[in-house]
Amino acid sequence: MDGLQLLIDLHKDAPRQGPGSDDHTALAITLSGLANHEGIRVADIGCGSGASTLVLARTLKAHITAVDLFPEFLEELDRTVSSGSFPSTIETMAASMDCLPFDDNSLDAIWSEGAIYNIGFDNGIRSWNRFLKPGGILAVAALTWLTADRPEELERHWLNEYPEVAKASCKIAQLEDAGCRLIGYFPLPPECWLQNYYRPMQERFASFLQRNGNTDQAREIVKAEEAEIDLYERFADFVSYGFYIARKAD
Ligand code: SAH
Repeated sequence: MDGLQLLIDLHKDAPRQGPGSDDHTALAITLSGLANHEGIRVADIGCGSGASTLVLARTLKAHITAVDLFPEFLEELDRTVSSGSFPSTIETMAASMDCLPFDDNSLDAIWSEGAIYNIGFDNGIRSWNRFLKPGGILAVAALTWLTADRPEELERHWLNEYPEVAKASCKIAQLEDAGCRLIGYFPLPPECWLQNYYRPMQERFASFLQRNGNTDQAREIVKAEEAEIDLYERFADFVSYGFYIARKAD
């Protein structure tokens, strides 16, 4: 198995593939005002196995296109969808977020939690904007500095992993420059990282290593995740995902 397949294997059975919570997705939906509308079209981009997609599907009366690059995650979501019933319809689509097949002005909302870093925040919001109808909602959770200054060790790690990490004021200016108006912002609290993402991941490490023959490559992946968890535990005051809810100009 190559490194990418190993990462998919580690994350595929997880309740979520990034920090977050059902309550915080629901809070962003409330701020968006989308729940007042019926028959709307929504895309959840970089949906993974669908943690946020399922909250959207339960809360809205919408047609939701759940997009991810990796079919393995979408198969998990398809399985969950087929065993439940929702006021929304959910269609999964394997596609890259830098090459989406939506028509211009066709979506009422674009949702994306913890995934836009794959193409960069500024690039992502600018390239997705045209798919939104005028007045459409863009809701994006992205890595955000919580303070003006931060420990050098933390800054070095995240600038290397995710060079566009920045303060909320910077991200909000980027949204405004891309033609959107901010209607809500909140940072995710530590339980979204620890209880909902890192602890379940740590519980999967032993079975992940066993399944994959305890190879050096598999152990390297676990070591890198452990290092990230350790960094987060020490520096949770300085960094989180910021959830940005914005409206495209009418
Ligand atoms: N939104 C989910 C997953 C976040 S992890 C959650 O919060 O749980 C980031 C996701 O982006 C992964 O599922 C990964 O497969 C997906 N991804 C990575 N590169 C992508 C690309 N180029 N296009 C679409 N999805 C991508």
